[in-house]
Amino acid sequence: MSRVRNFCAGPCTLPAEVLDEVSNELSDFEGSGMSLIEMSHRSPEYVAVHEDAIDRLRRVLEVPDDFEVLFLQGGGLLQFAMVPMNLVPAGSTAGYVRSGAWGKAAHGDATRASSSYVAWDGQDNGFTRMPQPQEIEVRSEARYVHVTSNETIEGIQLRELPDLGVPLVVDVSSDFLTQSVEWERVDLVYGGVQKNLGPAGLAVVVIRRSALDGCAADLPSYLSFPSHAKAGSLLNTPPMFSVYVTGKMLRWIEARGGLAGMAERAERRSSRIYDVIEASTGFYTSPAEPQARSRTNVVFRLADPDLDARFLAETRAAGLVNLKGHRSVGGMRASIYNAMPDEGVDELAGFMRDFAQAAG
Ligand code: PMP
Repeated sequence: MSRVRNFCAGPCTLPAEVLDEVSNELSDFEGSGMSLIEMSHRSPEYVAVHEDAIDRLRRVLEVPDDFEVLFLQGGGLLQFAMVPMNLVPAGSTAGYVRSGAWGKAAHGDATRASSSYVAWDGQDNGFTRMPQPQEIEVRSEARYVHVTSNETIEGIQLRELPDLGVPLVVDVSSDFLTQSVEWERVDLVYGGVQKNLGPAGLAVVVIRRSALDGCAADLPSYLSFPSHAKAGSLLNTPPMFSVYVTGKMLRWIEARGGLAGMAERAERRSSRIYDVIEASTGFYTSPAEPQARSRTNVVFRLADPDLDARFLAETRAAGLVNLKGHRSVGGMRASIYNAMPDEGVDELAGFMRDFAQAAG
């Protein structure tokens, strides 16, 4: 069986080594006679896997001691509601940077959960850049400002979290563990693991302990951050398979230089595709402003959209799949997450060069 190069925006490709390990131990986990996902989530075997994954994530993401790591379900999407429900008390509000489709969606849910306002809106410039810090409106009563560190659909990214003098809440769903977090500026970061870290099912929340102490006290148990923290993220049955594979993926990342290694890979690999776009003298274009170009989701267009179908058919035939851009943006999108092998990126760059020469 030959594996394709999967540039899907999520769920993502996983390393062949990790998949092999999982399949080898799937039916009999450590001599127990059953797979890990058939065990009780209270069994010593699972609890060890669960705690190891949390500790490992803390280490790899360089999470300071005054933050708690929570493993939850409901994806990034549940956090759009859960964060304001927990953090924004009556009489307070929260600012939302609408830098793209996901920032806009986060704000939409926040308006239903608590008071909120638009701190910056990139719609007028077609979501092609991120705001400068001084463009973001910070109201005195704001509990936090929410930013999306990487807009998955438009392919734009914050290179550094802004210092606004108010805590940030950051949706890191699509650039999780590809760049470091300026922890002193944030109260909470969250993201699903299914792009850079593992299979869908697990969402990670990293929350400052002082913010945890200030959370709303009257929420139903699953919606309350403190109730998950108190239970060590074992309040109810966790997404065991996703936690298990995420633990393996974290080990894989540690063996490849950890966060610094992943940041270097993301920079180097995305640059390879942006370089082809730049060198193509207009055959390919990137709608994102150069300083905001995402290192995980490379969005590009062909100058002649009549060639889109041929580009997609020929890439697919070459084993390079899931390159079609989001329907709201059009064109192409190459999602290059942590587990994409370098060879996959080289093959795509080579294909793009050859295609431009043959069709241009
Ligand atoms: N935020 C961003 C930036 C995303 O890319 C996504 C998923 N594509 C989400 C939130 C929603 O995440 P989930 O599917 O895990 O609920």
